[in-house]
Amino acid sequence: MSDWKRQLEDLVAPAVARSRHIDRILVDRDALSLSGSVFRECFGAGRAFLIADENTMAAAGARLAAVLQADGIAVERMVLPSQPRPKPTLALAQEVRARWQAADGEAVPVSVGSGVITDLVKHAAFMEGRPFFCVATAASMDGYASAGAPLVEDGFKHTIPCAPPRAILADLDVIAAAPAEMTGWGYGDLAGKVPAGGDWILADALEVEPLDTVAWPLVQDRLRDWLADPAALAAGDPAATAGLFAGLTVTGLAMEFHGSSRPASGADHQIAHLWEMENLSHDGQPVSHGACVAVGTLATLGLFDWLLDQDLTRLDRDRVLAGRPDPDAIEATIRQAFPEPAVAERALAETMIKLPSRETQAERLERIVKTWPALRGRLKAQLLSAAEMRRLLTAAGAPASAGAIGLDPAHTKATVLRARFMRRRYTVLDFLAETGLLAAAADTVFAAAAAP
Ligand SMILES: [Zn+2]
Repeated sequence: MSDWKRQLEDLVAPAVARSRHIDRILVDRDALSLSGSVFRECFGAGRAFLIADENTMAAAGARLAAVLQADGIAVERMVLPSQPRPKPTLALAQEVRARWQAADGEAVPVSVGSGVITDLVKHAAFMEGRPFFCVATAASMDGYASAGAPLVEDGFKHTIPCAPPRAILADLDVIAAAPAEMTGWGYGDLAGKVPAGGDWILADALEVEPLDTVAWPLVQDRLRDWLADPAALAAGDPAATAGLFAGLTVTGLAMEFHGSSRPASGADHQIAHLWEMENLSHDGQPVSHGACVAVGTLATLGLFDWLLDQDLTRLDRDRVLAGRPDPDAIEATIRQAFPEPAVAERALAETMIKLPSRETQAERLERIVKTWPALRGRLKAQLLSAAEMRRLLTAAGAPASAGAIGLDPAHTKATVLRARFMRRRYTVLDFLAETGLLAAAADTVFAAAAAP
């Protein structure tokens, strides 16, 4: 067994054993040849209903159907057009469900694709209370193993709780042959776990949210290895591809074990989420989740770089507390930042949950002043600089600047300043705000000619 295979086994097998939903994850070269036995092992002697688009049908679906049929598993299929790209809408998920039920409601749904197809099938299967089989075609995002489907409903994208697949199969030859930009997106999504770890360290240090001894090591222990060789990834090397896919997959499992997306998502994802809600597009194409996260990661690491240069043992606590905005001022800021009333209401609710009392803020400030050298050391051990991350993203073929996804520094800065209102999760954005430093940090980081 080659080295990367053993590492993958060591990582994935215990995580799968612990999962309440996922029974099998197979990541290997030529894994499609084993799809019939994985199907039987996880779903018995059933029939299969494949859901793909024209591209993923050509990349993996046709071979998958042939292997299943050769194993005596009857196959029906639904192939969505690939142009325009299928959109992750609730309406399309309902159409998938209706077509599956009309064709053969007893058949096991099998998603053949990446983010969108997986989410459509995840939702359709969940609505029928049925398990599904996920055949991944690109290492483009971290949602294969996650317990939710981000779908657009009435123009608003939100994650609908759904069960993850019972089995996930990733054929590394298929994944490595996916369009190179998709691998770059997956790399960007995984890169976000670096600053997300920094966010969690801050929350842990201030007793907002302690680190979790299961989810933290699952994501963080090998993260640097998975990100270490982006050039090999861009060249389609199987070991590097396996590492990226494993990283993206165990992240989903870590979220299941922790009970929230904290292990995988911090300020980087909050920033990316706003761009996704704006339907950001560049060169006539919607900007993918992973591309948004790559740039959100750079922005967040830029703020961390700035923070690590500060001497917070000299923080003027009285001045910070005197400048503390009252709830009315925060509400006014939120209403201005989010002109859409429904979004503003949601942001208000999320923000009020995490807003510290004056007493709590004073305690946190005292702790920061007293423990800053140690806290800074922990952060330094976790983080990469924005410059280093930019180098890695570039080598991976991922967007490595705001300009690469069509944003100017002013837009990035405005997003960074309002991102923390969208989620109750405590991140570096809250840390900077509560120490009275957010505006100064954003002014410096996003004014520079080399702004992330
Ligand atoms: Zn993500």
